[in-house]
Amino acid sequence: MRGVIMHAPGDVRVEERPNPTILEPTDAIIRAAAVCICGSDLWPYRGIEELHGPTPMGHEYVGVVEEIGPDVRNVKVGDFVVGSFVASDNTCEICQAGYPSRCVHNVMMGSVGTQAELIRIPLADGTLVATPGVPDADLIPSLLAASDVLGTGWFAAVAAEAGPGKTVAVVGDGAVGLSAILAAKQLGADRIIAMSRHADRQALAREFGATDIVEERGDAGIARIKELTNGLGAHSVVEAVGTQESMEQAIGATRPGGHIGYVGVTHGVTLDGLGLFFAEVHLFGGPAPVRRFLPELIQLIWDRRIDPGRVFDLTLPLDEAAEGYRAMDERRATKVLLTV
Ligand SMILES: [Zn+2]
Repeated sequence: MRGVIMHAPGDVRVEERPNPTILEPTDAIIRAAAVCICGSDLWPYRGIEELHGPTPMGHEYVGVVEEIGPDVRNVKVGDFVVGSFVASDNTCEICQAGYPSRCVHNVMMGSVGTQAELIRIPLADGTLVATPGVPDADLIPSLLAASDVLGTGWFAAVAAEAGPGKTVAVVGDGAVGLSAILAAKQLGADRIIAMSRHADRQALAREFGATDIVEERGDAGIARIKELTNGLGAHSVVEAVGTQESMEQAIGATRPGGHIGYVGVTHGVTLDGLGLFFAEVHLFGGPAPVRRFLPELIQLIWDRRIDPGRVFDLTLPLDEAAEGYRAMDERRATKVLLTV
């Protein structure tokens, strides 16, 4: 089968890889319908995260079940399925409490590498959710978004306690930040402030439900959020970047007693203890428990009540993955879908 391998920073190739096989009785093999490139795939691409030899890439996927292990009960051959970027058993105490991305048996799908024609899914019963039927082609991008960016943005909005009566500010206008705006709107937030400097992303933010745009950053960005909220700060803030600046901006933009949902994978972030003490905010985040939200998100997409697939602004065949990485690295694309 064909699959994406990163050989070195900036060096992505689509190569022949061995077809995956059932290794555990709880495995399934799916034939990918579409996969995508994540902002986090850019960390090794840019040499910020170390590669240990040629590495299969990708952790987002939708597709059709091709083969199941003898212990798989919840999905069958021919089902169209969506799964999280973390495989989970969905039965351990941590899963049952709602945190499947920290399942005691979790397998990061990035270690499998989903940017390929065929994908081995560990813990298939816990990980995969079948759609109500074979989706129309135009629903596939949205279902794929549910695999990571939508689920992550959704978790961030839930963690920030977005809802009726709340003003929500979203730091980061990538695919996750935009998805968090969509989530905050669905959760009933009164006012949604998108922090963005890019005209095309501002437009999509508004389409997803943003009521205000703030272009300023740093102290000026915080001042602008306070100006919009009677000097208090937002009730709910989503942090969807993962840098020192974005985390400080999120904490500074939150009112005392407010909630921050942080889902940007942190790189080199250190927090000042005294600043955090006097900020008096709820800080909650981590790898999003996407699996928890999948049934609800799939239904919203199936019923065409949300269209999160709009975050994909470039679609390429799998064989042109290298161009997809370049386009995201050079910010010519927000998020790239690869058809398989
Ligand atoms: Zn578990």
